[in-house]
Amino acid sequence: MKSPAFLYSRPNSLEEAFSLLDRYAEDAKLLAGGQSLMPLLNMRLASPQVIIDMSQLNFLKEIQNDDSQKILQIGAMVRHSQVESSALVRAYAPLLSMSVGHVAHRAIRARGTFGGSIAMADSAAEMPAMTLAQSGVMKIGSSTGTRLVAANDFFQGLYATDLKPNEILLGINFPHPLANQRYVFEEISRRAGDYATVGIGMHGSFQGNVCQALQIVFFAVADRPRLLNRVTESLVGQVLRPPLIDQALHLLEEDITVLADLYHDVPTKLHLMKHLLKKSLLKITGEYADE
Ligand SMILES: Cc1cc2nc3c(=O)[nH]c(=O)nc-3n(C[C@H](O)[C@H](O)[C@H](O)COP(=O)(O)OP(=O)(O)OC[C@H]3O[C@@H](n4cnc5c(N)ncnc54)[C@H](O)[C@@H]3O)c2cc1C
Repeated sequence: MKSPAFLYSRPNSLEEAFSLLDRYAEDAKLLAGGQSLMPLLNMRLASPQVIIDMSQLNFLKEIQNDDSQKILQIGAMVRHSQVESSALVRAYAPLLSMSVGHVAHRAIRARGTFGGSIAMADSAAEMPAMTLAQSGVMKIGSSTGTRLVAANDFFQGLYATDLKPNEILLGINFPHPLANQRYVFEEISRRAGDYATVGIGMHGSFQGNVCQALQIVFFAVADRPRLLNRVTESLVGQVLRPPLIDQALHLLEEDITVLADLYHDVPTKLHLMKHLLKKSLLKITGEYADE
């Protein structure tokens, strides 16, 4: 199918983009890499009056490290492939580096953008989930100014975010991680490059064998990426031995209301989640042996 007709605009400045958004509001769509928007248009699941192409907003295409504030800044128009090859991302937001190779295929990663994936908020997408796991903060702009929103408040449901129709996601700020963090990313998908069936990212610190801190996010299991609270509470301050891990698996459903997808029912999802959680916890302790 072909897209419905639309007006096309390619602003050279943010001010120009904001004034178009103020004028057209819900009738406008921002175009980043187009990897999700173009299929939506061609399938006629979206029919905006105007497309606002952000490709000239070059300052949104940068990855910068601010050592004085201890923040890594990823511009919204940074492509997945830039995230993949960035030494700064590897140093300051390792879960993004570990997971971005699972986003679709190389050709899509060469066009698709980090900000586009965050704004799209697909519950099975890697970048929103790992942004939550790395405590990312969204920088959002409009003609009235900029505001900051923590990832946990930004993702509000299936394809639903805190973004208003007159706003643009400008970038995402990541606080530098604490020292001595360990990281694990795992996902199960039907084929390499497919969206995840179940995915997990975690980081934590240890003193000797004792877990000092832990942050765990699951994705592709609910209407949005989800942090585990009950599970982590039961593990922090403890030595993560298999019997304790097995007990923690039973708390999963207290943290997340698991949803089925097109191919997997809830019991299957839960089974896969328990498998990934156990494997990841054993990995983070260094106790995992390949099956
Ligand atoms: C075959 C295929 C497989 C895929 N597999 C995966 C996968 O396994 N994992 C995964 O995570 N993704 C996957 N994707 C999606 C891909 O990662 C997209 O690149 C991403 O979801 C959207 O990024 P984009 O830059 O292409 O955004 P676009 O398609 O240009 O925009 C997506 C939406 O976000 C809005 N938007 C974009 N940028 C902004 C902004 N700065 N501020 C406000 N709103 C904005 C747009 O208006 C639009 O509604 C796949 C895509 C395809 C086509």
